[in-house]
Amino acid sequence: MKYSVDENGFYGDFGGAFIPELLHHNCDELKAAFDKYFYTEEFQSEFRGLLKDYVGRPSPLYYAPKLSEKFGTNILLKREDLNHTGAHKVNNTIGQALLAKRMGKTKILAETGAGQHGVATATICALLGLECTVFMGEIDIARQAPNVARMKMLGATVVAATSGSKTLKDATNEAIRYWINNPETYYLIGSVVGPHPYPAIVAEFQAIISEEIRKQLLEKYGKETPDYVIACVGGGSNAAGAFYHFLDDEEVKLIAVEAAGLGVDSGETAATMQKGSEGIIHGSKTMLMQDEDGQIVEPYSISAGLDYPGVGPLHAHLFKTGRGTFLNATDDEALQAAFLLTKEEGIIPALESSHALAVLEKIDFKPQDIVVLNLSGRGDKDLETYMKFSEKYS
Ligand SMILES: *Cc1c(COP(=O)(O)O)cnc(C)c1O
Repeated sequence: MKYSVDENGFYGDFGGAFIPELLHHNCDELKAAFDKYFYTEEFQSEFRGLLKDYVGRPSPLYYAPKLSEKFGTNILLKREDLNHTGAHKVNNTIGQALLAKRMGKTKILAETGAGQHGVATATICALLGLECTVFMGEIDIARQAPNVARMKMLGATVVAATSGSKTLKDATNEAIRYWINNPETYYLIGSVVGPHPYPAIVAEFQAIISEEIRKQLLEKYGKETPDYVIACVGGGSNAAGAFYHFLDDEEVKLIAVEAAGLGVDSGETAATMQKGSEGIIHGSKTMLMQDEDGQIVEPYSISAGLDYPGVGPLHAHLFKTGRGTFLNATDDEALQAAFLLTKEEGIIPALESSHALAVLEKIDFKPQDIVVLNLSGRGDKDLETYMKFSEKYS
């Protein structure tokens, strides 16, 4: 249990709840509700019932024959792209919405970058009859129009965040400000970030991914552990879910992939571990990109889901202890990997997931290795970007 959260919400040196006094009550209330309900049979049966029949879980663990041949090893794709709403995000939104309902909350607040978390939240709010408000950066609203339309059709109110760089970080700042003024709302955070207990509970809801991987590997290979688990990291929720049940199996190599943007040293990057240092962002002590004065450095990635200037405290801990290996992939490498997967396996990945795919050629695998790659989402939302580059890469 070396890598789990302690009772104060810390993973080693990272985590905690650095928030205004006013919000401590909300976080304590959430922690109490999680402890009270999550482990009950009643909650588990509703949660798992929805994951099965509404989301379509378990998601397949697909042996990719052509990728395996190309990289000279055994590559298995965990198909989170096949989930309802198109990514892993829905695992968490269902879990938190079921908690919110039991807490008597009727209004849900969320932030979103590319819109995937906003769509997943609006979806579950429609299903459970909850009121939904989503903060989204003005620039992201413009570049992710189809997801804005989906949220609106699902009945959510989309509020433009107009401060700062008008992207995810600013949407999060404005969502937190709204929460301070409306503490009766339930703030449904979309990744393993924010004040304790959010990173821990989001990881628990996403842990279904590695729970399934273990069962699926046992069925396929008679052994529950792979040699590698690879996942992309924005805030870190799909990686946390894919790593969770392997954290204490030290022989399983955990590979987290950040977005390098135009290059780690280009000044246009989201490679937090390479360029970041310890600090506090959105209520949590973690690794983040900041200048000497502690001002957040604007992140950049072609993928709107990965351009977050921080990373969840669990990942900062995995980085510092060396339990996790943090690699990165540039825009260019991610696009190449996206076209490769599409051409070879007939699967169009999300741009975020393409970053994970891009490191396959950077690792020296053995022929007998079992490599699980978490394909966090599908590429429908990214088609416009892919089309812009289709001549260059296909
Ligand atoms: C949001 C998103 C991510 C990044 O978020 P994490 O919390 O790091 O998982 C990755 N992939 C897809 C498809 C996403 O929608």
